[in-house]
Amino acid sequence: MKDNYDRSMSFQCPTCGGESFEHDDGNPDVRCVRCDRVMTKDELREANGARIEAEVDALKAEVLKDVKADFAKMFKKWK
Ligand SMILES: [Zn+2]
Repeated sequence: MKDNYDRSMSFQCPTCGGESFEHDDGNPDVRCVRCDRVMTKDELREANGARIEAEVDALKAEVLKDVKADFAKMFKKWK
């Protein structure tokens, strides 16, 4: 059985934007299926870091907004 973990990662190739990568077991390098670029997993993660952080920040802002709205409602009830 082949695991699909790598497919669930939404990493993008910094060269071509491809999202399919191949890697051999025990080899830290990954290869972009579309443009053949070879890089380490760390390089790939770093190249995608800014994008992932932006997504996390957007999510945090969304959650924070909801939490603040809930608190505002709670405090209004207590007055
Ligand atoms: Zn590529």
